[in-house]
Amino acid sequence: MKPTILARGGAAAAALTLCSGLLVLGGTSAGAAPGCAVDYQVNQWDTGFTASITLKNVGDAISDGWTLEWDFPGNQRVTNGWSATFTQSGQHVTAKNPEWARSLPAGGSASIGFNGSFSGSNPAPTSFKLNGVTCGGGPTTTTTTTTTTTTTTTTTTTTSTTPTDPGEPGEHVANPFVGAKGYLNPDFVANVNATADATGGTLGTAMRKVAQHSTAVWMDRIGAITAGRGLRGHLDEALRQAAGGTTPVVIQVVIYDLPNRDCAALASNGELKVSENGLARYKAEYIDPIAAILADPKYSSLRIVNIVEPDSLPNLVTNLAKPKCAEANSSGAYVQGIQYALNKLSAIPNVYNYVDIAHSGWLGWNSNMGPAVTLIANTIKGTTKGVNSVDGFVSNMANTSPTDEVHLPDPTLNIGGTQLQAANYYQWNPFFDEADFGTEMRNRFIAAGFPSGIGMVIDTSRNGWGGPNRPTGASGTTADAYVNSGRIDRKLHRGNWCNQAGAGIGARPTAAPRPGFDAYIWVKPPGESDGIATKTDGPNEEGKQHDPMCDPNYRGDNQANGGNLTGAMPGAPHAGSWFPAGFASLVQNAYPAF
Ligand code: BGC
Repeated sequence: MKPTILARGGAAAAALTLCSGLLVLGGTSAGAAPGCAVDYQVNQWDTGFTASITLKNVGDAISDGWTLEWDFPGNQRVTNGWSATFTQSGQHVTAKNPEWARSLPAGGSASIGFNGSFSGSNPAPTSFKLNGVTCGGGPTTTTTTTTTTTTTTTTTTTTSTTPTDPGEPGEHVANPFVGAKGYLNPDFVANVNATADATGGTLGTAMRKVAQHSTAVWMDRIGAITAGRGLRGHLDEALRQAAGGTTPVVIQVVIYDLPNRDCAALASNGELKVSENGLARYKAEYIDPIAAILADPKYSSLRIVNIVEPDSLPNLVTNLAKPKCAEANSSGAYVQGIQYALNKLSAIPNVYNYVDIAHSGWLGWNSNMGPAVTLIANTIKGTTKGVNSVDGFVSNMANTSPTDEVHLPDPTLNIGGTQLQAANYYQWNPFFDEADFGTEMRNRFIAAGFPSGIGMVIDTSRNGWGGPNRPTGASGTTADAYVNSGRIDRKLHRGNWCNQAGAGIGARPTAAPRPGFDAYIWVKPPGESDGIATKTDGPNEEGKQHDPMCDPNYRGDNQANGGNLTGAMPGAPHAGSWFPAGFASLVQNAYPAF
């Protein structure tokens, strides 16, 4: 997997209007009688938790601002929140609408959330007030608790009233992540625990917590379908993790073996080639067996989420100057391969398909985004089920772009005569983060004919950027100074992508974290390398090679990363292999911290 950059959009991109990426509500009319229903979902670990709140206005329309209030029954503290301004005094919390989302139409909903800390227990609030009036019926709550012992990992889920219909087993639900627990890949858990044991101390304890979270299973070659645990082994284990409970398990499977894979880079080149009958082999030897396994009725109670072909179609938008991409394009191999995969996989009711859309630092320029939406939309429309062959889109698997550039919310802010988006780091790309990027992509897909329920997903496994270098604000008298002091993303250049020193694990996997987003998930298992750091004698048996962007001493060219150092960590093994030092760095720089 590699995230290659990027044809630049240049100044033409500047006129794009940004959606906040937060709460967007339409319709206003004056109204007096508030009424509300609150759904409060918690995902918790040790002493931390993430709360997702859906506030539904069942009273008159609100046009001039809203405030939601509650009292924590315990010692919970809000540490940071989104889509509202949170203040806490003692146990009392107030969440106020953002300025740009003052209205809440009758029947409309607002989704807000926060990260919190607690000690002892973490009971949900028993009552909420909207604009001073108590919401009826009490909140519906879901609490997912994750606990670990020193050598094994178990996840237990307790569900009281579940707000969103969890669906019958096998039923295709609107958002497969809601009301489900994530599959824990035992192979990943074993790697994490081995490194935690070898590390020991506080860091080892922090590392062990990573194993409590779901990561995707990568089918990165034909052999992966059967080798080792194999696809059936993972699905059987997912059934075992579901056994005895009423909560369905959601398992993510990455479909990643197109011919001429990773065509603009070398690190994740694959086994199939267009010129060697790769498309036919992809269909017969890769997609067909995967589809046959996923369709086995034995697995019909699982929610199987397919992450479809990272980086592939985006490379056809920005990297056609690279011969392998040009061939993937002119032969139709990427488009036809993805269409074939979607046709087979969307025929299975309990399977969900999310197609890759790269990330904000790649497709954010209008000149890239427009053609990308056209190509991706047309590819999907060319399948038997058309727009209904997918459930959504996923970004950031191949990179470490932050979910929210919290100190740089306005790309048009003018500092010293220059807009922030024109600063060197952003180069007129108006999308600084994945939330804004995903929101805009979603709007454009809907405008292109996709259903309004389409859901975005962000890979947050490596986009935390915590640790001592995390900025606490932005300042300076030039746009460059302001951006460089304030950006969460600490890469040396936005085009860097391989094993980034300083990147940390980001938000924990979360269902329905914000409007329009189905989930934050961990597609790239944190600790698995992006590519080998040192030069090799040609490809390994899987086709992987050394890409200079993974060499810490290499300065890229102007197009790749403006001639900056790569920011890659030294000593990394081939893409996909476990990289203990990389894992340690991701844990040390995690945000929220473990
Ligand atoms: C590699 C895959 C690997 C995946 C997850 C990709 O960069 O090419 O082989 O399975 O990352 O680590």
